[in-house]
Amino acid sequence: MYPKLEVYPGKIKNNTEIIKKLCKKNNIKLAVVSKGANNIPEVVEALIAGGADYLADSRIKRFKKLRSFVKNLPLMLLRIPGPGEIKEVIKYADISLNSEIEIIKLLNEEAKIQSKMHKIVYMLELGDLREGVYPAEKVIEKIKEVNKLSNISLEGIGTNLSCYGGIKPDEKNLGKLSDLAKKIEKQFNQKLNIVSGGSTTSLPLLLDDKMPKKINNLRIGESILLGRDIESLWDYNIKGIKKDTFILKAEIIELKDKPSKPFGQPFVDAFGHKPSFEDHGKRKRAILGIGKADFVYPDQLIPLKEGIEILGASSDHLIVDVEDVEEDLSLGDIINFNLFYGPMLYLTASSLVEKEIINWR
Ligand SMILES: *Cc1c(COP(=O)(O)O)cnc(C)c1O
Repeated sequence: MYPKLEVYPGKIKNNTEIIKKLCKKNNIKLAVVSKGANNIPEVVEALIAGGADYLADSRIKRFKKLRSFVKNLPLMLLRIPGPGEIKEVIKYADISLNSEIEIIKLLNEEAKIQSKMHKIVYMLELGDLREGVYPAEKVIEKIKEVNKLSNISLEGIGTNLSCYGGIKPDEKNLGKLSDLAKKIEKQFNQKLNIVSGGSTTSLPLLLDDKMPKKINNLRIGESILLGRDIESLWDYNIKGIKKDTFILKAEIIELKDKPSKPFGQPFVDAFGHKPSFEDHGKRKRAILGIGKADFVYPDQLIPLKEGIEILGASSDHLIVDVEDVEEDLSLGDIINFNLFYGPMLYLTASSLVEKEIINWR
């Protein structure tokens, strides 16, 4: 049945190995981030087989299942926990990223109840304006409080960049993280096992040999699962990375010559937007049996057949121009696409899209 998402864990393993090697060369431990692929078990297996040092995911709701098949690797919770998630965090996560001392105290109380030590990474705000203590120097006071808690251990500090505010990781912001790490180690006479310098977007610094030396951990998802955004947005091509780790397959359900400009009274589309069109005369168009409900962003799909142009989508229909396709297409033909991160995130989680694991075990 279509639509179908082909998943290639072997290629994801290959990508993990390449990033791991790059990290290892720079004394950096690799927390592989599986959230972009909704923790498809074979993908998680591939990430582990490729050399992940930690397995990281953003949603505690997925950890119970993750824990059931990840036995020998620390699980890291990426999204700072909320007051309603404390029990699960202590039960299933080994390490969590945190930015609120009140929450850390709740984690401590729950860890006492469950007789566990829970590790935390204290997040610092360095400009992107998502999670983290601000100003970053305040972390020193916070650590004094953390060190009083019996069942919490400070595993390290970290930061998150180029997510909300679009701020680039550089020698200045990561240099600050690095300096604060040194200061903390000296002042508290305790080693930080984790100084976590961000995600895929921190790789350019590593590739340019500009990563501050104290950074010893990165949390990497995109460049392992896809390797496409880092190339097209940041213009960094990491040698050997396979970008065709997922292939979306959708079926042609209508194929007709139609005008390229809608006719009748212009009003709004299914999502309340007023679309505009240029008139290119009559063109051959296909409707594919998949839609925004599955991938959200039609413009982030990459058609693998030459001559196909994505025109748009409604919730269940993807409309493509096929006038320039050389061969003769027919109803029922399958059209293939590669993906950017957004569609990968949604398609892997969509219960309406069948997943097929290719060439794995
Ligand atoms: C998603 C996420 C990452 C991974 O980002 P990529 O761009 O996929 O490498 C790292 N850290 C945190 C806190 C995240 O939420």
